[in-house]
Amino acid sequence: MARQFPLKKTRNIGIMAHIDAGKTTTTERILYYTGRVHKMGETHDGASVMDWMEQEQERGITITSAATTCQWRNNRINIIDTPGHVDFTVEVERSLRVLDGAIALFCSVGGVEPQSETVWRQADKYGVPRIAFVNKMDRMGADFFRAVDMMKDRLGANAVPIQLPIGSEDNFDGVVDLIEMDAIVYEDELGVNFERVEIPEELQEQAEEYRELLMESLSEEDDEFMMKYLEGEVTTDDIKKLLRQAVLNVNVIPVLCGSAFKNKGVQMLLDAVIEYLPSPIDVPAIEGVNPDTDEVEVRHADDDEPFSGLAFKIMSDPYVGKLAFFRSYSGTLESGSYVYNATAGVRERVGRILQMHANRREEREVIFAGDLGALVGLKNTSTGDTICDQDHPIVLESMEFPEPVIGVAIEPKSKADQDKLGEALQRLAEEDPTFRVHTDEETGQTIIQGMGELHLEVIVDRLLREFKVDANIGKPKVAYRETITKKVTNVEGKFIRQSGGRGQYGHVVIDIEPQEQGAGFEFEDNIRGGSIPREYIPSV
Ligand code: GDP
Repeated sequence: MARQFPLKKTRNIGIMAHIDAGKTTTTERILYYTGRVHKMGETHDGASVMDWMEQEQERGITITSAATTCQWRNNRINIIDTPGHVDFTVEVERSLRVLDGAIALFCSVGGVEPQSETVWRQADKYGVPRIAFVNKMDRMGADFFRAVDMMKDRLGANAVPIQLPIGSEDNFDGVVDLIEMDAIVYEDELGVNFERVEIPEELQEQAEEYRELLMESLSEEDDEFMMKYLEGEVTTDDIKKLLRQAVLNVNVIPVLCGSAFKNKGVQMLLDAVIEYLPSPIDVPAIEGVNPDTDEVEVRHADDDEPFSGLAFKIMSDPYVGKLAFFRSYSGTLESGSYVYNATAGVRERVGRILQMHANRREEREVIFAGDLGALVGLKNTSTGDTICDQDHPIVLESMEFPEPVIGVAIEPKSKADQDKLGEALQRLAEEDPTFRVHTDEETGQTIIQGMGELHLEVIVDRLLREFKVDANIGKPKVAYRETITKKVTNVEGKFIRQSGGRGQYGHVVIDIEPQEQGAGFEFEDNIRGGSIPREYIPSV
């Protein structure tokens, strides 16, 4: 089977932004213009297409990192969703690991917010080529130039406008294209029709000035270009070609602007994605280690090499169950075939391969090098695992996951919940490497750990919605744990029966606040630790 899209016409991108900058709105507009969404849904009103999970819509934040595929001018664009909330920087990190380039989205009023700095530095660490989009040009107080200055000052970015806004706030009408040196003005509310016209008189001088700045930064990249420019011989093609190179080298961040909400500037942003962001063959080949020989091996984005890919997101899907989103780095993968999970050391059968579009799921028989997809049927694969051709095992550079920063105790609300809790927690931990579960040896409580309060709240929310487990969370107890030798009847303390963790079912701990000691039962003096003899385990 032949590939539909040549590799050089594939873009794997993410949209990085701080919360509320307009990432969801921009993504929706992208999906609208690329022809996949036929109804333009307002964000947060339930019609949002990227936010899959109910709670994301309710909370107004994007948590999961799913991948959506769309097409623009005969190119395939895979959009890897990256969350904006600071608690989820690890999600950002893992999407940065599998994407080739990114759109950095800023609000024209807020400019560079502290959260954008965090994400920016993460992208710097991975050397991710970026283009910047200053969104919300229609908002009161919109200031394109201030946003550009903030990118330079706060992020140390070589931010170079390739567009200028025409007007702002209510009078934001379109953009000046500093490469073509013309203006794009919109004709209708939905922004489908636009016209290329002459640069408005009053912006002529400013356009010349910024074009000069663009030429200067490109001249720094290449002497030959500089000579050509000085002789007045550069063409728009020369500019685009060199700018592409400068973006790929992460030397220049071209800045565009628009208003996703008012449907302005999104098509030009898509053009820039194709024009300036890398395809899988423009980024360095991936390295890994052969687990049998410990030798370092390289895999290229080439269909003829052995298959290798990285599972970057495990999701529980209401229709098909466990879904493993993966990025293919080399070779081809067919549905119904076996893959080797080199991280876990197990062979797994790929039941189906899906590719997610905004409003439909496409069943794929084969996924080619450099593309993204979601696998159904991988039982033992966790986030960050390498999947590969069994005869050519490789473990790709693993993703870095930070240690969780907070922990709370979790208790099921009822017996029925208790039975399901352990399994549910295990599934969640499989999906999310920054979410951990363990049983506290001292108190016997089940402790869940994560990256922040919101992270854990989301987990509890998901337990209820997806796994139908009702649970309370609270501060872990720094409780006494005593070996009870007699009289466990009449216990007024709280019984907690653990069902979490591996094979610890039936482990019971009686949790007593220090002041309750002696109330109704006796302890062997000062003996701490040890487990409760089985015969004393009350049936809960
Ligand atoms: P996210 O948190 O980055 O995904 O941001 P959203 O796309 O959810 O947008 C946050 C809020 O800003 C919503 O109320 C949007 O309607 C609004 N918004 C998004 N883009 C624009 C824009 O271009 N102009 C204006 N005025 N509002 C916008």
